[in-house]
Amino acid sequence: MNWVEKDLQHIWHPCSQMKDYEDLPPIVIDHAQGSCLYDMNGNRYVDVVSSWWCNLLGHCNERVNHAVKAQIDRLEHVIFANFSHTPAINLCSRLSPLLPPGLTKFLFTDNGSSAVEAALKMSLQYHYQTGNPQKTRFMALSNAYHGETVGALSVGGVDLYSRIYKPMLMDIIRVDGPDCYRCPYEKSRDNCQTECFAAAEQALAEYADTVCAFIVEPLVQGAAGMKIYPPGYLKKLRQACTHYHVHLIADEIATGFGRTGKLFACEHASVSPDILCLSKGLTGGYLPMALAVTTQPIYEAFYADYSEGKAFLHSHTYSGNPLACSAANAVLSILQEERILETAAENAKYFRQLINDSLIRHKHVGEIRSIGLINAIELVADRAGKQPFASQRRIGYQIYKKALTKGVLLRPLGDVLYFNPPLTISREEMDFAVRVCRECICDVLE
Ligand SMILES: *Cc1c(COP(=O)(O)O)cnc(C)c1O
Repeated sequence: MNWVEKDLQHIWHPCSQMKDYEDLPPIVIDHAQGSCLYDMNGNRYVDVVSSWWCNLLGHCNERVNHAVKAQIDRLEHVIFANFSHTPAINLCSRLSPLLPPGLTKFLFTDNGSSAVEAALKMSLQYHYQTGNPQKTRFMALSNAYHGETVGALSVGGVDLYSRIYKPMLMDIIRVDGPDCYRCPYEKSRDNCQTECFAAAEQALAEYADTVCAFIVEPLVQGAAGMKIYPPGYLKKLRQACTHYHVHLIADEIATGFGRTGKLFACEHASVSPDILCLSKGLTGGYLPMALAVTTQPIYEAFYADYSEGKAFLHSHTYSGNPLACSAANAVLSILQEERILETAAENAKYFRQLINDSLIRHKHVGEIRSIGLINAIELVADRAGKQPFASQRRIGYQIYKKALTKGVLLRPLGDVLYFNPPLTISREEMDFAVRVCRECICDVLE
């Protein structure tokens, strides 16, 4: 039996209809280097989605590899209650000054969804312990994505992932968020005054008394199709949350670590959240680890004599794993010493131009949106009416399959194709990936 047959005998792959694997069997990867994956048959794939947005500095980066190998011979893991280790201590003391101001206290979890869960619980318990036990609900934007465990799924607004589970989800307050491509106010990016913020303002005015936190993906709603909205919206949200005594939770799990051109997307709006969630790029995409980082005032609401029962009891077995911390420390060193963001900014201009030049005239390209090295191409049936394709046609999926045969991993979000490559992608790789993308769009749609 070959590897593919053995895989299909036992493995239930994530985010997949397994029956699709009948005509697109799993691609068994043997090794990887930089932006490229190599399968067991020696085929190469340029990983322009950073293996689900987590690979930050290329696969098998020499310095990250070295750091993890060195750590594994000293300490692989230790209980993190009462015990600590230098990789975690170094990570937090190095990261704190790089974060939006005021974020000084670090709670470790082991994946993005669990960091979101921790942030939600932390906010609710803060209000409970500071005289507002009635503040128990959460607010979130339409089309939000915050992960897939029950709490995280509850605040998410992508129906595809949550529809079936509604009976087990929390009753949250959903706010119509920005939708710049199909702006209901018919504004363009040039004359936008974030009129759409009125919905959030109104919901806060109505419900703030019972709301503990508003969670948001700063600037880029990733899973919704890389929807990008202006910093002004986030600024207004920060002000309104402060006014209404509601925590702002910034989910930078996808946008953190340079993806939007700044180290953190919040910097574009010069705002600090009350709680910041980080994962994905945190370890360079090497090991699962996440953080919920918060402020001194929130921390202090939990700090009391044991008998008061105010501790935050949230824990995960692998909290603060030293191997993951060693990878994260290496990532920080590389970001600081190798001019990664500066080079990525230069390359972002090139990439954006290249994608625009190659695709903007295509009659099924509705919009191209870009921030940092993230570029998304929304395909539509009718460009003038911004009408989507019927979802049963699975246009994005057809293009994805075609691109795989040509050596590019371009896994779309519905009919939104996107590039969110390692920050270290080369111009040759960009040229190749965009050429393949264009060919595949033409093959499938003509
Ligand atoms: C990926 C992601 C999550 C969930 O992280 P997991 O590690 O997959 O649980 C949460 N929020 C955002 C914005 C993400 O992109």
